[in-house]
Amino acid sequence: MHKALKAAGRAPDAAYLTAVSKNQPWEAIVPVLRAGQRRFGENRVQEAIERWGGKRADYPGLELRLIGPLQSNKAAEAVAFFNVIESIDRDKIARAIADEIQKQGKAPVLYVQVNIGEEEQKSGVLPADADAFLATCKGYGLTIAGLMCIPPVKGPRGPYFALLKKIADRNGLTHLSMGMSDDFETALAFGSTEIRVGSALFGQR
Ligand SMILES: *Cc1c(COP(=O)(O)O)cnc(C)c1O
Repeated sequence: MHKALKAAGRAPDAAYLTAVSKNQPWEAIVPVLRAGQRRFGENRVQEAIERWGGKRADYPGLELRLIGPLQSNKAAEAVAFFNVIESIDRDKIARAIADEIQKQGKAPVLYVQVNIGEEEQKSGVLPADADAFLATCKGYGLTIAGLMCIPPVKGPRGPYFALLKKIADRNGLTHLSMGMSDDFETALAFGSTEIRVGSALFGQR
């Protein structure tokens, strides 16, 4: 990370790491916790609660982030459990999250996921719909802190990262969650403020 940030002419603290612990056995996570990492990403609500639910007292400062798709029937649990939800991507979810924030009097930090490569199988709002969806979220009283994307596997990633940054910039959003094990250097060169790394940190799942 530091090398890539330096090469991009950015400060060493211009971006941070989310360790993606999904599907990892607890033994693989412990050394990362021991090294001081406190920010973890999970892609399933239930799995995250089972793994981390009893751990907050042992590891002060834990920051748990939902990076996988969210169903509206899990909105209550997600709002109650996560510090950050990165996968707001449709009206129904935005409304369910807004309702839960009202009910629980507790608000996680929220990101909108953009389907940056317009791929059939991926979640996220389409790039062309992002501005309108952000306005919809605002209308529900939600504060959106940033954008998240998972670019297509094939081809150069730079243009996708650049597009996410452009959407964020024109909407006044400062957090850009982009970059994974095989493309985080590129993402950092294109302005990522947080990378989500699983396999490069923990080994294959
Ligand atoms: C699994 C996952 C990651 C981490 O992927 P790696 O290639 O293992 O680094 C990042 N973001 C999301 C949304 C994921 O589901």
